[in-house]
Amino acid sequence: MTSWDGVAAELQTRLTAQAFDIWIRPLRLVSDDGSVLTLSAPDAFHCRWVGENYRTELAAAIAAAAPGRRVEFVVRSVTLAENEVALKPKVSVAEGTSVTEDATPTFHPQLDKRYTFENFVVGPSNQVAHASAEAVAASPGATFNPLFIAGGAGLGKTHILHAIGHRIYQRFPRYRILCLSAERFMYEYVHSIRNGQSIEFKERFGQSCDVLLVDDVHTLAGREGTQEEFFHVFNRLHDLRKQMVFTSDKYPRDMSGLEERLRSRFEWGLIADVQPPNTETRLAIIGRKAELLEITLPPDVALYLASLPLTSVRDLEGCMNRLLAYSQFEKQPITLAAAQRWLASHMGERRAVTVDDILRRVCDFYDVRIPDLKSASRKASLTLPRHVAMYLCREVMKLSYPEIGSRFGGRNHTSVMHACESVRTKMQSDSRFAETVNALMRSLG
Ligand code: ADP
Ligand code: MG
Repeated sequence: MTSWDGVAAELQTRLTAQAFDIWIRPLRLVSDDGSVLTLSAPDAFHCRWVGENYRTELAAAIAAAAPGRRVEFVVRSVTLAENEVALKPKVSVAEGTSVTEDATPTFHPQLDKRYTFENFVVGPSNQVAHASAEAVAASPGATFNPLFIAGGAGLGKTHILHAIGHRIYQRFPRYRILCLSAERFMYEYVHSIRNGQSIEFKERFGQSCDVLLVDDVHTLAGREGTQEEFFHVFNRLHDLRKQMVFTSDKYPRDMSGLEERLRSRFEWGLIADVQPPNTETRLAIIGRKAELLEITLPPDVALYLASLPLTSVRDLEGCMNRLLAYSQFEKQPITLAAAQRWLASHMGERRAVTVDDILRRVCDFYDVRIPDLKSASRKASLTLPRHVAMYLCREVMKLSYPEIGSRFGGRNHTSVMHACESVRTKMQSDSRFAETVNALMRSLG
């Protein structure tokens, strides 16, 4: 676990899941020299936004997980490998200075480089969406405009959206591509109003944009102001024959809270859907993914994975990552028996939570060692995690105080009781702490 993993885990308890996904998850650790934590972000706006809006949370998370550090942001240059980053342009949270963008990256910085057409497996469930995406990428603005990709979670919508971006970026290097989530569009819009930058905003989503790729437009539902602005952007770009592609987890006709005029525009071009892949396609996806992960899966394991009752490709990938992690952790090859064992707890046959699970989770989170937690040591850095672990044993497993005491190095039941009580009291007075404990509890299922 890097220092940034710790800070991110802290942030996760302090921010909404949505804010975390949009703003924190895309950040990558570049370096940590003990006093400066350098993070890379996809673009300058991203740096500025995090610096301006999450300053307090970031500072608190750093104080908790990587004390004594200051954060600096750099804009990611995607020509370089994942963790090498062009270090020139810097924004520090403290100063909030501006950033210079990178010159000519091979990959568009707003696009995930794994999400290409080459890495996308085509099957009956996504054939139409794939073909229309290829068509749009081959001649932007000339075929379906907009292309609207609809379908359930984890079925490849974002992947296709980015693949279009990559293809256009390679074929038409002069085209200015803007790829962002609808949520992010809303933030930028609100930001532009707040800072009197409406003209810049209009320019960004108008003359200076050749291709607009917007992910998850279903999140526009119920947001009238943003929808209105989106409507104007749509009209402007459509008049200019600029290509637009949207993704959504609902069809336009099923999106409640969407203005009629915007809904009708979403339907102007082509609506293509993605469905859950059949077993054959799942098998092909597993094969492709194994190649990318550079692992060899025995055919029986691949078949087993393909037969799991999962509809989402994201969940399927999650299982593969889990297998890989277990096999590295336990230093064992991925055999069918091992895969079944490793995935058993994950797939339906839910195992009850054990004291060891709680200890592992808590120690992971606070970065302390299990034996230390069970030891008699009264070091301050151990007290809180120990109390939290005891509290979780009580709340999640409903163990008695003496039972808990015996699992924590033979402690007296009254001291366990006091520990649980102190956690309860702290949770009432400290909402952040309460969120942390609740998040830990949730993570135990
Ligand atoms: P969505 O946006 O529809 O929720 P994503 O595009 O994020 O789903 O896809 C989830 C994960 O599944 C991604 O890692 C993506 O690469 C992978 N994936 C989905 N469909 C395919 C496919 N047909 N071929 C290869 N990978 C896929
Ligand atoms: Mg998506």
